[in-house]
Amino acid sequence: MEKQLYELTLKEAIDVAKAEGPWEIIRAVIDRTALLNPRLNAFVRFEPEHFLKKSRKSEDFKGVLSGAPLSVKDNICIHGCETTCASKILRGHVPPYDATVIRKLGDAGAFFLGQCNMDEFAFGSSCETSAYGAVKNPWDIERVPGGSSGGSAVAVAADMTIAALGSDTGGSIRQPAALCGVVGLKPTYGRVSRYGLIAFGSSFDQIGPITKTVEDSAILMNLISGFDPHDSTSVNQTVPDYTKALARNVKGLRIGLPKEYFVEGIDPEVETKVREAANVLKQLGAQIKTISLPHTAYAVAVYYIVAVAEASSNLGRFDGVQYGLRAPGKNLLEMYFETRNQGFGEEAKRRILLGNFVLSAGYYEAYYRKGQKVRTLIRKDFEEAFKEVDLILTPTSPTPAFKINEKISDPLAMYLSDIFTIPANLVGIPAMSLPCGFTEKGLPIGVQLMAKPFDEEGIFRAAFALEQEIRIYKRKPKL
Ligand code: GLN
Repeated sequence: MEKQLYELTLKEAIDVAKAEGPWEIIRAVIDRTALLNPRLNAFVRFEPEHFLKKSRKSEDFKGVLSGAPLSVKDNICIHGCETTCASKILRGHVPPYDATVIRKLGDAGAFFLGQCNMDEFAFGSSCETSAYGAVKNPWDIERVPGGSSGGSAVAVAADMTIAALGSDTGGSIRQPAALCGVVGLKPTYGRVSRYGLIAFGSSFDQIGPITKTVEDSAILMNLISGFDPHDSTSVNQTVPDYTKALARNVKGLRIGLPKEYFVEGIDPEVETKVREAANVLKQLGAQIKTISLPHTAYAVAVYYIVAVAEASSNLGRFDGVQYGLRAPGKNLLEMYFETRNQGFGEEAKRRILLGNFVLSAGYYEAYYRKGQKVRTLIRKDFEEAFKEVDLILTPTSPTPAFKINEKISDPLAMYLSDIFTIPANLVGIPAMSLPCGFTEKGLPIGVQLMAKPFDEEGIFRAAFALEQEIRIYKRKPKL
């Protein structure tokens, strides 16, 4: 059966748009979203009219993307478009500038459809903490899509956008990609500019692509990567052509399976499919070996000390004075108090309190400083491992999509769902999740590939080979 236009991959959409213009594709995606968004809640703002007004003469679609319709997470600033991090406190906040990734994609001829739902301020792994309500997993609408970039992952999985951007501080691109059956890449820290990404944990955050295929991920990485004078943590290193790494050749590639990631507590179906993925790579000529990352057990604890410390200081600026919501108060202090009290949801408040606690005098040494030291030990684990192997292969998430409400009242259980994704953020290395199978109930399972800093090409090489061999990206949720 011929593909519907909304089902096109980015690569296919670019080819069609080059030949026939982008409008038919844009129309197909708009209709699809109008139909599905009331059920899935993937977009918090779907306003193609905004972009229709802003652009869009045909010459705006001259670049590589040729007008292909994309969407972004609601924490990436678009000039003139409300951007709220799915929080009440930023209602009405309209950025006066474009994030660098928006400018770059716009210059490459992207058409932006709107902004995708997320956990409030990217705090969460289930998209249940959004001020706009929970997002539903298209494979089973009683389940969460993962988070925090769940809206972006759902929009891609349900063909409501051709591709999307998310952000990843502790797994927020990869975990929802795994739970929704799509491809999500967290680039090396410094590879993609964070300018215009509303900060959560500034030493962790990276923007990255969420796409239907590995090739689409490479296409977007070519466009969004690179040094940006507006972001002092972006790295001035040449951007390779990532599509050249899609060679289907993994001969001789050394891939490590860390024994600490295959332990009790991981869902048996997840473990089976992830091990099968490793076997596929082995059959294609890669060498698979067991490795050890001995400090893995501390990663979640370290993350929930250092990341909340950074979050609490980043969120200090939302006080009702410059951005979004302002609640009335008899004096300045009361106005701050009321604005923050009404504007932040429960999880945001929890993190602000935790962050202030670990940074406060008397506790700083015991928590924050110690956390940073253990972070260094975890980095050393990876440095050692990468002397032996080129890539590390693990499950992305210990379980497939869980039920809505299953973990929301148990923050620790929720935090543990990031156990396999957090280390890459602590260390700053690139990591991708791609689909590797389904459970018996038909829920997607993701496998994660991690590489040395700036070796996204190694990831693309193995991921493309695996994807082309198992070809499950053709399976779609029934909606
Ligand atoms: N789920 C993790 C958290 O709650 C990661 C979030 C993210 O990567 N933005 O912090």
